[in-house]
Amino acid sequence: MAGLPYIVGNWKMNGTRAMLNEARAIDRAAARFPKVQVGIAPPATLIHRMRESVDLIGIGGQDCHVEENGAYTGDLSAPMLKDAGADFTIVGHSERREYHAENDAHVNAKAQAALSSGLAVILCVGETEAQRDAGDAEGIVTAQLEGSCPIVDGAPEKLSVAYEPVWAIGTGRVPSVEDVAAMHKAIRAKLVAIYGDAGADVRILYGGSVKAENAAELLAVPEVGGALVGGASLTAESFLAIVGAAVSLVD
Ligand code: PEP
Repeated sequence: MAGLPYIVGNWKMNGTRAMLNEARAIDRAAARFPKVQVGIAPPATLIHRMRESVDLIGIGGQDCHVEENGAYTGDLSAPMLKDAGADFTIVGHSERREYHAENDAHVNAKAQAALSSGLAVILCVGETEAQRDAGDAEGIVTAQLEGSCPIVDGAPEKLSVAYEPVWAIGTGRVPSVEDVAAMHKAIRAKLVAIYGDAGADVRILYGGSVKAENAAELLAVPEVGGALVGGASLTAESFLAIVGAAVSLVD
């Protein structure tokens, strides 16, 4: 596993100020888990308040624009996320790729913009069900990496990749541990091909219906360095159960 296990919650378009209580509870618990890195990507409207409410956990955006500023109504730039208190941002989530027509070139530029602004990046890749059924899953995911991985000077220390099969997101379905292992191995090989030795240190997260019941099994798979969690990150109770599974693997 490259670095500490990293458990990240993606709140998507969920959460108003009342939900900061969940973040506070997660932050308090994080003090007991120094060997696990924890982050939450709330809606952008909560980044600043969350920054003022927590001490230990990382806070992230869910997307960023490629430009620093300009006439892009409704968008947020990486420097703005940073200014609001974000430490990282997700880019290339399948919901952005699908509903906002983002392709690998956009994702690459967004990752580049985020890293240039000092944000860490979680870059998402993953195949659709039809692509997996056609036997193309590894080819699709490695092609996504080829197109979306930012070219950085030196080691991409602030880059994590999240493998999220599109058909597993929010569906309660998860790939077999064998399929997760095979895909993470293929992703690792591609990262080493892109970045050389530094590619061995890029953290690869698994995402897609991670819950308390399956977290330990998924996190124990070789090359799984953590989890990107959607639905189960919305309450401290369900999210901390997943963090607890990571703790039990490193303790
Ligand atoms: C996600 O959207 O990043 C995700 C993993 O969602 P869920 O855990 O709800 O499948």
